[in-house]
Amino acid sequence: MPGTFLIAEHKDGHLKRVTLEILSELVKQGNTPTVLLLGPSGTGDLASELGKHGATKVVHLESEELKSYTTEGYANAVHGYLSSQNPSVVLTGATAHGKDFLPRVAAKFGVGIATDCTELKVSGDKLTVRRPIYAGKCSKTVEFLKTPAVASVRPNVLPVGAGSGSSPQVEKVAAQVGQIRAKVVEVRGSQVKKVELTEADIIISGGRSMKNAENFKILHECAATIGAAVGASRAAVDAGYAPHDMQVGQTGKTVSPKLYIACGISGAIQHLAGMRTSKVIVAINKDPDAPIFQKADYGIVGDLFEVVPLLTQELKKLK
Ligand SMILES: Cc1cc2nc3c(=O)[nH]c(=O)nc-3n(C[C@H](O)[C@H](O)[C@H](O)COP(=O)(O)OP(=O)(O)OC[C@H]3O[C@@H](n4cnc5c(N)ncnc54)[C@H](O)[C@@H]3O)c2cc1C
Repeated sequence: MPGTFLIAEHKDGHLKRVTLEILSELVKQGNTPTVLLLGPSGTGDLASELGKHGATKVVHLESEELKSYTTEGYANAVHGYLSSQNPSVVLTGATAHGKDFLPRVAAKFGVGIATDCTELKVSGDKLTVRRPIYAGKCSKTVEFLKTPAVASVRPNVLPVGAGSGSSPQVEKVAAQVGQIRAKVVEVRGSQVKKVELTEADIIISGGRSMKNAENFKILHECAATIGAAVGASRAAVDAGYAPHDMQVGQTGKTVSPKLYIACGISGAIQHLAGMRTSKVIVAINKDPDAPIFQKADYGIVGDLFEVVPLLTQELKKLK
């Protein structure tokens, strides 16, 4: 029977929030998907968390070769299983992993893919999505002509449901990982334990105007007060003030936090492409004509080196 499949993402024994966001949305629409969990033995333990959010069936595609993420391992295992399941809809998060393996799954099925979707509607076996185009200047509704309909969903755009479900049925299947020609030999994590940008509820970003890497500490201090992640414009990254994993924008990360605070960022279209779906945007800029103010919900015209420390001070008082 055709059905909807959601490929879960997890890291360090925890599910990525985007998995629960997509699951909650599908359950809300009355379409409970089969959730695929990929990984070595023990990964199936995450099924209980999925159950709390409404999953009734979880398939654990098990292989020790899936201990670390590999493009081919994931693409082969997902396609290997789904090709015998007659899927109508295949979904995952538009994360670094999702952006990497899902197009390959679509290619193996010989179908197209809609990436980075911000809305989705599953009606029976039919998927309709909305996704941004032209660097986020407009968005379009996409329907699929072939099955399965394959799509990735932008993190942080859908709410996670309350989570009152019960234990799902878990099926263990030996994953067909096939030949993996490129393997991860070492993962060098960031030295600092940071809130992941794409999952953060609040982001405070700095631009070229930060002047150097050292000055970013005022943003980190403010971020630590409110549990925010720190981002940067490409100009700040190119100047070496911040690492590339902090870059927000067309050639950086796409984020959708509840609150985005842009400090000394002009608001170039390529930056807006990565943050324009933020729920509330605050801009701090000393130029009242900076384009970012056209997009901002709240604007502060002033010197960020005065405004940000004051903001941190006031936020500390509130806490
Ligand atoms: C193909 C392509 C891809 C790109 N991808 C990205 C991307 O992913 N992300 C991205 O960000 N950019 C990207 N860019 C670059 C983009 O076009 C802009 O150049 C960049 O976003 C500008 O960064 P900025 O706003 O920090 O710097 P600027 O444009 O130089 O703006 C600095 C701002 O800070 C203000 N300012 C200065 N001093 C202060 C102060 N003390 N207090 C308050 N305000 C102050 C100024 O008024 C100004 O508005 C891309 C460009 C291209 C061509």
